[in-house]
Amino acid sequence: MKNYFYGKLKSCGLVLVLCVSNLFFNVCFSQPFYLPTPNTEIFNWRNPEKYYVPTPGKNWESGTFGCVRSDGYQMHEGIDIKCVQRDKMGHPVDPIYATADGVVVYINNKPSLSNYGRYIVIRHVIDGIEIYSLYAHLSKVSDTLKEGTPVKAGDIIGIMGTTANTRQKISLERAHLHFELNLFINDKFSWWFKARYPNERNDHGVWNGLNLFGIDPRLLFITQQKQGKQFNLVNFIKNQNELCAVFVRKTDFSYLKRYFALVEKNPLVEKEGVAGYEISLNYNGLPIKLIPRAPSETKGFASVQLLRVNPEEQKNNPARRLILHNSSGWQLSNTGLSLIELLTY
Ligand SMILES: [Zn+2]
Repeated sequence: MKNYFYGKLKSCGLVLVLCVSNLFFNVCFSQPFYLPTPNTEIFNWRNPEKYYVPTPGKNWESGTFGCVRSDGYQMHEGIDIKCVQRDKMGHPVDPIYATADGVVVYINNKPSLSNYGRYIVIRHVIDGIEIYSLYAHLSKVSDTLKEGTPVKAGDIIGIMGTTANTRQKISLERAHLHFELNLFINDKFSWWFKARYPNERNDHGVWNGLNLFGIDPRLLFITQQKQGKQFNLVNFIKNQNELCAVFVRKTDFSYLKRYFALVEKNPLVEKEGVAGYEISLNYNGLPIKLIPRAPSETKGFASVQLLRVNPEEQKNNPARRLILHNSSGWQLSNTGLSLIELLTY
């Protein structure tokens, strides 16, 4: 009997060990997103500094997603995940894993061309949502990968590094994976960019950071862990706080088709037809919900109208400066208008 319980205890111990491994989170719950490195401290509430790498002289929060840079006025669109494996010279050697099943869509093997350094983008479709994971500052991309290669969640796709073309280099001490989860804004990005910034270079085509809008990976992993099998990416995106809602008098743009899962039903448009879309944006400018509006539900003739604003959300997350308040009330800023222009281009 004693032995039986000892055996039970031993297997509990084994389960505990597995608990802190990627395997447990991902295999036991068959959850869509794997942690992208061997570092599993993302769920360690007491020591977040074991997971996030801060910017020099700042605290761990500067390595998280959101308005965490330059005193809250600069966005960081990913998370900076701490290195846990080094060689004798102190270089990072953590393997980088594909966060979910998908297809490689972009590899930048020329670190000098990007502040992401050497990076990979993988396309996934989860709960009907196209989502793009991005892995930056790599020292190496796995030899077998090229654009179009299918990958499985947990496959090794590269090795952590410190590559970047920024003037301030990433020190060995700060070695990290910059990891993003993005939604894709517009297929016509390259044309839009050329029209808007005729004198600027775009080395990365539609994989330019301006065309990829991040969601918070930390919040996603924590929600996924909390909700287990109930986790659903569509709900996760739709449930983000709204910063503002905008009406656009357009009925045909690529985001509508790509993110059909985020488009709500409106019985009135079945009778009257669609005049345009009411688009909810989160503080990062990500369209989180779209509602078709019938002509009788719209006012005026303006092609873009700001419908409502959540001032608290703007106060807490000011970095993107999508809206501004002046003597005539809240308005879309030039950045906000430019975002809508790109979205509906
Ligand atoms: Zn980063």
